[in-house]
Amino acid sequence: MKKKGGNLKRVKRQNRSLIKEMIYKNRLITRTEIAERLSLTLPTVTTTVNQMLEEGILVEKPISDWNGELGRRPVALDFNEKQMYFVGVELKPFDTAICIIDLTGAVIVQEKFEVASAVYSEMKQMLLQQIEETIRISKVNRQAIKGIGIGLSGLIQHEIGYIYRNIHSDWQENYLGKEIMEEIGIRTVIENNVRVRAVATELKGGIDQQKEIPENFAYFFVSAGIACSLVIKDSVYTGYQAGAGELGHTVIIPDGPICKVCGNRGCLDAVAGERVILEEYQKILLARTGKKEPDITIKDVIQDFRNHDRQTRELLYLRVKYLAIALANIINYVSPQTVYVDGYIFQEDELRRRILEETRFNLYGKEKTEILFVPYDSFGGAKAAAFFAVKHIFIQ
Ligand SMILES: [Zn+2]
Repeated sequence: MKKKGGNLKRVKRQNRSLIKEMIYKNRLITRTEIAERLSLTLPTVTTTVNQMLEEGILVEKPISDWNGELGRRPVALDFNEKQMYFVGVELKPFDTAICIIDLTGAVIVQEKFEVASAVYSEMKQMLLQQIEETIRISKVNRQAIKGIGIGLSGLIQHEIGYIYRNIHSDWQENYLGKEIMEEIGIRTVIENNVRVRAVATELKGGIDQQKEIPENFAYFFVSAGIACSLVIKDSVYTGYQAGAGELGHTVIIPDGPICKVCGNRGCLDAVAGERVILEEYQKILLARTGKKEPDITIKDVIQDFRNHDRQTRELLYLRVKYLAIALANIINYVSPQTVYVDGYIFQEDELRRRILEETRFNLYGKEKTEILFVPYDSFGGAKAAAFFAVKHIFIQ
């Protein structure tokens, strides 16, 4: 009997999570629609929804474009945006981005800070101060902040908040999630920076609510490094020891340049990541002007590309060619319904056209996979990390 009671409790909790997720992905949904889409009975949905209304998490809103003539005007459900807030952080290669979102996903504040130290203890102290500073600027009541999500590159075991592998060797084998949570007193989750983007997409975080998100998709991310996360049947594939998605460390040119991250030769990061693009661009500048330009960013490279500099164009065309091979390999191997491509260089129409053409050229058969470009947002990873916190702290 005891066991049965335990099961009932678990089922109730699972239903509550499912209902929360359904409302999160489909704002202004009615109780009847939730029941139909989740194959739950209307009384089950109503009991759980009423509980959440009492707790102040949900609010009822009239459906404005309802044109039914008979019966009562139905009311739809939405989250009460002022009920709780989530912090999102992305530790990026050239700076740290932090934002705070409300329960509807609207951004309250977003701030940029200097790049994190390669020394773990210093990085942690900086991060604590930067999070406190962002909370202060937002003027949000600290008690209402229910979670912090942190996105960073490398192999991250999010269930235990553990950094397993990272480009900064000193960060490795540390429980960053737990340590931040203990110091700041707010639940904290950490995850790979590309996987948080995939989770945020799956949750329709910051995405037009009308859009349907396919249940199988890939998120192809190009930054200093390259990674590709897979969502299979609405859940992110993490693989053994959190290693799934590290496309950047698959070899694309045997005996190519040494990768500074994994130490192998000719992997995708080492031939097509932003880091190598910047290094190659420095060489072009050095030959052109005779002096080193230490503060060059990817923005400068794209600017030169727009100015029709021949060498810069060839530099980027070659990198896009490698990226297209990798992207085609993913499509050939996994056959996702959609691939979301996210990277600063793909703000350029011409580079978008190129990667589409070259990818299609490398495809086997007539794959119908849709390739969509994510509009570039330097806070995209921080926002995604906040949605990751929503998913793992609020919804589940
Ligand atoms: Zn590598």
